[in-house]
Amino acid sequence: MIVLKFGGTSVGDSQRVREAARIALAQPAPRVVVVSAATGITNALLETARATARGDVDKRAETVEYIHTRHTEILEGIAAPDHRAFARERIDWLHAALDASLDEIAAAGKLSDRLSDRIVSTGEKCLSVLMSATIRDLGYAASPVFCDTVIATDDRHGSARPDRVETRERADQVIRPLLDDGHTVVATGFIGFAPDGSTTTLGRGGSDYSATLLGAALDADEVQIWTDVPGVLSADPRKVARARVVPEISYDEAQELAHFGAKVLHPRTIRPAVTLNIPVHILSTFAPEEPGTVVTQESSGNHVKAVTALRGLILLTIDVPELEDLAPAASAVFRILDEQHVEIVTVSQASSRRRMTFLIDAFLGGCAQLERLLGEHLGETETTISCSEDVAAVAAVGAGAAALPSSLSTMLTTLQRANVSVLATNSQDSNVAMLVIIQDRDAERAVAALHDRLIRPQLASHRARRRRSQLMSEPFRVG
Ligand code: ADP
Ligand code: ASP
Ligand code: MG
Repeated sequence: MIVLKFGGTSVGDSQRVREAARIALAQPAPRVVVVSAATGITNALLETARATARGDVDKRAETVEYIHTRHTEILEGIAAPDHRAFARERIDWLHAALDASLDEIAAAGKLSDRLSDRIVSTGEKCLSVLMSATIRDLGYAASPVFCDTVIATDDRHGSARPDRVETRERADQVIRPLLDDGHTVVATGFIGFAPDGSTTTLGRGGSDYSATLLGAALDADEVQIWTDVPGVLSADPRKVARARVVPEISYDEAQELAHFGAKVLHPRTIRPAVTLNIPVHILSTFAPEEPGTVVTQESSGNHVKAVTALRGLILLTIDVPELEDLAPAASAVFRILDEQHVEIVTVSQASSRRRMTFLIDAFLGGCAQLERLLGEHLGETETTISCSEDVAAVAAVGAGAAALPSSLSTMLTTLQRANVSVLATNSQDSNVAMLVIIQDRDAERAVAALHDRLIRPQLASHRARRRRSQLMSEPFRVG
């Protein structure tokens, strides 16, 4: 059984939806297709919800119109009248439900996280209907499945956490019978349901995560993530033009990359695959014949495979007068971050054992709010708190490379030459990634310099090897 996930640009218009359907149908059944909303639709849905909350009637109408137009264009690409009619009826119903939710916001005069999730789910729901009608149009049995009946989560609207056991039961009840009947199931990415039955979302970019969650729930042989780049690249291609495909990476490496900002995978995507050892392929709908990247348990080589940056973070340092003051101060920080639902990127302790550094996601209120809350918790102690915003973490990822004593010094020398000051380093115990914490404004320069120093020489030697073996037409690959 294969799960294929198509991202927003891969289902952006009628032609792309048809192309994605053909890619899916080229795979052996049984298959589950997981779809994102068409590119730009999730943002448009959020925009219309916010406009409605502030009473901006014109903006609401304009954005709703845009959403209708985009879905109608895909609908009109469905050739057979009966399949088009099937889809139209459901799309009209979903658009009407969107209007009803917007009316609820208008009446309340504010947008709750719960209503926001219900509204954004419209994008994925419409696409699952449109993709399944397109597959039928191509002559195959297909059924849309809305995952706010399948993926069980907690009630953290906006970034809900899945319940894998219940999801497995639901997938067996809802999806398995359709697969047994020979249907291609077209499931919505990104969404789940809370214990009270309301629709939740798994965080922006969460459809990748839906794909591996469903893959694990249905014991898939493989999960394929189809996107707009030909695999995981050695850096974000929008920032580093010379970035090249990494053909193979391990689960650990992929998790580090996703965790430290490589948008190609949602940060939580890999975990469900690890448990059942399911290979995850990253492939391009724009170049479907390219081999892409395969993520498995194995790791190869001891070189840096990719450089990535996670931006807009906060660096918090606490200094305590005595060793015994550290545990209570650290526990206050952890409690506050947990209460505020703030994610921790890294934590480290200085060798003096009286200082701890927390690298965390930005959150509403930033340092001012954090310092205020910590002040309340710590009272009159002599703990010194320092907090900086606009910080970035830059990671050089490659199992084995991080274990080499020379790697971190090469990294630091490279950054020094590029005039990037390093606020902190954290060579991770797992030896999968080396991490430096820098000012956010230096992030792009740092990634480019590190890519040039740590990865480009591999490309050059690879090119030379290729020239020798006269394989001139193959695309460059790292690793
Ligand atoms: P989708 O809509 O298919 O989920 P995303 O936009 O979420 O696609 O992710 C793909 C994008 O991730 C690419 O277009 C690329 O700009 C970005 N990206 C960032 N870092 C990397 C990387 N290391 N390798 C590949 N793509 C990356
Ligand atoms: N459509 C959602 C988003 O834009 C989920 C996804 O694309 O994975 O965040
Ligand atoms: Mg994505």
